[in-house]
Amino acid sequence: MATIGPATNSLESLEKLCLYGIDIFRLNFSHGTHDDHAKVYGAIRTIGQKHRIYPTILADLQGPKLRIGTFENGQTLLKEGEMFRLDINPEKGNSQRVYFPHTEILAAFQVGTLLLLDDGKLKLEVVAVEKTFVDAKILVGGQLSDRKGVNVPNIMLPVPSLTEKDLKDLDFAMDLGVDWVALSFVQSVEDVEKAKSLINGRAGIVSKLEKPLAVTELEPIVDASDALMIARGDLGVEMNQEDLPGIQRNAVKVCRRRGRPVIIATQMLESMVSSPVPTRAEVSDVANAIHQGADVVMLSAETATGLYPFEAVRIMSKIVEKTEFDTLKALESEDFSPQKMVLDAVCVAAKDAAEYSDAVAVVMFSDSFEAACRCARLRPRIPVIFVTESPKLADKVGLCCGIFAIVAKKEFKTEQMNRTARYIVSELKCATVGDNIVVLNNISGNSVTICEM
Ligand code: PGA
Ligand code: MN
Repeated sequence: MATIGPATNSLESLEKLCLYGIDIFRLNFSHGTHDDHAKVYGAIRTIGQKHRIYPTILADLQGPKLRIGTFENGQTLLKEGEMFRLDINPEKGNSQRVYFPHTEILAAFQVGTLLLLDDGKLKLEVVAVEKTFVDAKILVGGQLSDRKGVNVPNIMLPVPSLTEKDLKDLDFAMDLGVDWVALSFVQSVEDVEKAKSLINGRAGIVSKLEKPLAVTELEPIVDASDALMIARGDLGVEMNQEDLPGIQRNAVKVCRRRGRPVIIATQMLESMVSSPVPTRAEVSDVANAIHQGADVVMLSAETATGLYPFEAVRIMSKIVEKTEFDTLKALESEDFSPQKMVLDAVCVAAKDAAEYSDAVAVVMFSDSFEAACRCARLRPRIPVIFVTESPKLADKVGLCCGIFAIVAKKEFKTEQMNRTARYIVSELKCATVGDNIVVLNNISGNSVTICEM
């Protein structure tokens, strides 16, 4: 997945991203106007039609991201040991105070509340709480400039995860027709349920794991969502950085067991924002995400504003291809083993049929997102071509690892499906005469057939 921004928002750049291996495009509603997003959306759909592919588009809502106001000089220096005030006075700030435009949040602060400013670079502790301000002691100081973010890790914020802005953005994204919506700073199952009732089936819901409270409620939140994003940026501000790898590993397991697609996000190839080659540690991070069983690895600033967006995608694609090939065996852990349900029975049958007949592709006829998830979860070693009548579903299944979607008229008879499957794989040039393919019928009951080309 690539985040789109000024570095990649032209038609030519988006097409290049597609050809270099991007399946999912992230519209980040923390930045850009509705007009910007509409243009990108339209361009991606045009590219999809041109290449007859089904790119997946995700709208990432900003959520309750807290920010301070502005300063007389654009910035100020906070010194360790001194005091600093956050208040409800909209005037420009100085070294003593700054505007904090979130009255209801101010009311939730208590003596002892930790405030992390500018991605955690500065650290303050609240020592006095009044109706119109809080005074905080500066534990870690530094430069602080206009509109920097504020993270409040250790209290439940009295805000829904959808702000006024998010509601407007959500309406807009629904009218555009995005396939997925990502919810930022989810704190509880209720946050997900609220969004679900508004979205009402028009898009899938990705909950972003970026609050300590969501980590403690992980399983119910995953159950309530269609997919999870491990948002290591804010999570790493709100929690100790050394806790992140363990949280990532566990969250991937939780998603894998349930067959929910899981995205690993933030700083994956961060150094490529300004360098044409990644660090060894970054390469390893991307590979480890695949080893663990992530469905999606995401680029943020690398593709949105970086100097080397296409190189970043090319390198990420290479790592993914190499790692997938090397690790499919290792993935056959308990978290991937089939469970007792008809869908898993038929998906395992297809996977085994493919393996023992040396098939080159699985062609899966289905109307069900759940079916795509259950099949992707088993990580078959060969491409799965998901054939559906619904263009919307074709766009949506792009979040599932290894699933490639095609839209075709619905068939009900096995014989006709087998003929269509042969036609599709030869059009896609993934099989030639003499090859076996496996056809999975999830439309009229469930069945698996091995066909020779
Ligand atoms: P963001 O989310 O880029 O929207 O902040 C991802 C993260 O926090 O890691
Ligand atoms: Mn975030």
